[in-house]
Amino acid sequence: MIIGVLAVQGAFIEHRNMLDMLGVNSMEIRNKMDLSKSFDGIILPGGESTVMGKLLCDLDMIDDIRQYISKGMPVFGTCAGMILLAKTIVNSPMKHLGTMDISVVRNAYGRQLGSFNAVASFHGEGEKQIPMPFIRAPYIESVGEDVNVLSRINGRIVAAQQGRQLVTSFHPELTKDPLVHRHFLKLVKDYLQ
Ligand code: GLN
Repeated sequence: MIIGVLAVQGAFIEHRNMLDMLGVNSMEIRNKMDLSKSFDGIILPGGESTVMGKLLCDLDMIDDIRQYISKGMPVFGTCAGMILLAKTIVNSPMKHLGTMDISVVRNAYGRQLGSFNAVASFHGEGEKQIPMPFIRAPYIESVGEDVNVLSRINGRIVAAQQGRQLVTSFHPELTKDPLVHRHFLKLVKDYLQ
């Protein structure tokens, strides 16, 4: 198994480190050529969704990635990565990949509370409390009927899944808890079988 981590901008190294820790091979996806290499799942990291979205268009990568996802390849978007996947960005006219039936609010926690740490339940395989670092985070305002909510904080949705698309508002890759990555890798294993 090899996981492609989008590496045009943002916190991709931290995802690779987490995958290393789990003994899983990864590669960086930096350009269109990299997209023709062999990988079994995609991670879209945190960073700045506007910048990443623009780079995906400028580098002519956005249609290819959308197609991989439409064909069922597992994808895990954290924070800005989640915004890239969202069908609707409530407070922006932009849409990037738009493959997941969620409406997200960018920078949803305001300036003061923009970054914080929480511990809350994640419903992956069973339910477990995990650490959740938020950095100028979005949250999910509403989800379509095919979307499962995996975590809420103060009633707001911060993790969700639709088929093999997994998203979190927070950054599990900045913690030592591999639960969310393990959950994603299980989706990749199912996909490969
Ligand atoms: N605020 C960023 C955005 O809108 C996301 C922040 C993050 O990925 N940590 O793209």
